[in-house]
Amino acid sequence: MRFIYRTSFRVFQKTYPKRKNYTYSLIEAIMHELSIAQSIVELAEREARNHQADSIEELELEIGALAGIEWNALEFALESAIKGSLLEDARVVRLKIAGEGRCGDCENIFPVENLFSACPVCGSYAVKIIKGKELRIKSIVVK
Ligand SMILES: [Zn+2]
Repeated sequence: MRFIYRTSFRVFQKTYPKRKNYTYSLIEAIMHELSIAQSIVELAEREARNHQADSIEELELEIGALAGIEWNALEFALESAIKGSLLEDARVVRLKIAGEGRCGDCENIFPVENLFSACPVCGSYAVKIIKGKELRIKSIVVK
């Protein structure tokens, strides 16, 4: 049985400070990814239990390129977070979502590689990020 479960963690806005040039210490980075991994496990388990499932076979994650997620750190954190959970034997699929912005001045939509990109058409910095900041469970497959 496969069902689609959508959610969004808004990780970026919640945990990243506003000031620029902020560098995470290693400990902060690990704690950050670990708490995300724990949230993922909790949400997936809650959903599986709602469907009277005994285990989760597959977990599909969508991770935005601008979500502030360290790919390798998250993988490491997930490995530890799933131990003893319904996700213990699950296949984890990670889909990377590329960044996309919309210019507030000329409405141009374009690919964005970082949060401070200018519009390539008119040079405006009034850019709204419309894709790439998400972190969500796209689907889980339960048994
Ligand atoms: Zn523009």
